[in-house]
Amino acid sequence: MKKIAVVGGGAAGLIAAYFAKTINTDVTLFERNHNLGRKILISGKGRCNLTNIKDVREIIENIPGNGKFLYSALNSFSNIDLINFMEKLGVKTKVERGGRVFPVSDKSEDVVVALKGALEKKGVVLRLNSRVKEVKVSNGKVSGIELYEKEEYIPFDAVIIATGGLSYPSTGSTGDGYEIARRLGHTIVDLRPSLVPLITKENWVKDLQGLSLKNVEVTSFYNGIKINSEFGEMLFTHYGVSGPVILTISREIVDYLKENKEVIISINLKPALTSEKIYERVCRDFEKYSRKLYKNSLDDLLPKKLIPIIIKLSGISAEKPVNQISKEERMKLVELLSNFKLTVIGCREKEAIVTRGGVSVKEINPKTMESKLVKGLYFAGEVIDIDGYTGGFNLQAAFSTGYLAGVNACKEG
Ligand SMILES: Cc1cc2nc3c(=O)[nH]c(=O)nc-3n(C[C@H](O)[C@H](O)[C@H](O)COP(=O)(O)OP(=O)(O)OC[C@H]3O[C@@H](n4cnc5c(N)ncnc54)[C@H](O)[C@@H]3O)c2cc1C
Repeated sequence: MKKIAVVGGGAAGLIAAYFAKTINTDVTLFERNHNLGRKILISGKGRCNLTNIKDVREIIENIPGNGKFLYSALNSFSNIDLINFMEKLGVKTKVERGGRVFPVSDKSEDVVVALKGALEKKGVVLRLNSRVKEVKVSNGKVSGIELYEKEEYIPFDAVIIATGGLSYPSTGSTGDGYEIARRLGHTIVDLRPSLVPLITKENWVKDLQGLSLKNVEVTSFYNGIKINSEFGEMLFTHYGVSGPVILTISREIVDYLKENKEVIISINLKPALTSEKIYERVCRDFEKYSRKLYKNSLDDLLPKKLIPIIIKLSGISAEKPVNQISKEERMKLVELLSNFKLTVIGCREKEAIVTRGGVSVKEINPKTMESKLVKGLYFAGEVIDIDGYTGGFNLQAAFSTGYLAGVNACKEG
């Protein structure tokens, strides 16, 4: 009987253990927490956006961190395979905006419960509260694992490392797998947070906390040179900005922050309108409110919370009668509406959705997920140097690589 250890009970590890278990294998899943799938539970705001309905080519395009490495994995266990698999386990799914797939129940817990039940039914041994410290190797081949507790050694023929990334460490993902892999000779590509909320210099953002802006365009700049741009929804927080658009552009911004460079983000609050059209719009509103004060004239143009800030930044007195606002002042307001600037000085590292970097894909066989350095050692999920955008791509990557690692680890030889 081939003995297989799976290290980590997240998306990748759960699927890997399921597919590694056959009548010819003994599979033990080690999870350091007392429960499985903690990150799945918090994913998609508790609803678990488990995959995306897009085709393989588009999924790869949405995985900027080594998406092409996943070609075999995504073809072996596609989004459709995942959806069918989840349905087989009793989790019906639905497709939402942007092709995002969620459980019909809107409960990520259902995904975890279904996977756990499937593992138990198949006879996978679940060892909770068991943190793996080392993978032991003899003659270039996996020989077993060592636990932290009492340094217990257990022999295994194959080990699948599925320990996740570095973000939300309270879920158990604290980067153990990187250290284990490094000690076995693997290269760990520079670890950085991705899809991460950004901290701004302007502390008045806290006055905007909770304000969500839809249909805005956010562009980031370093030294006046554009880094990237994205259209959609963003959110103000007590420390800065978050929300889908910000998370997406954060990936590249983090590289500048790492070098202590300040990045400017410019929010176009009216991206559908040219400056001339915004000017006309402002004039129309000022005409409508010509008997009012400036501070009472912006209700049609802006969300309530934003008005005091825009007034302050425009440099026009809040008490000024609208009919006395000059053309120059109007132009200033127009500029502000299309170029509302914030200075990014940091990111909320531990709140990243995903970790960029990890075990180098150059040292992993993309067709099997087996290490090219150590026989019988496999990797799956976020521990690998892969990262995708929001939309279900990271979980799909974890499930697909988990599947490949599982079905290959259980092969004889
Ligand atoms: C807030 C949030 C929301 C997200 N929402 C989505 C979403 O909706 N859709 C999407 O596609 N992606 C989402 N992601 C990303 C996605 O959840 C992760 O990329 C994915 O869960 C990674 O799966 P994994 O199995 O590789 O790692 P993890 O899910 O992190 O699992 C790793 C497991 O290994 C265990 N472990 C670690 N070290 C050891 C050790 N030494 N011994 C034993 N066990 C160990 C950990 O306790 C953990 O349970 C979200 C992430 C966050 C943080």
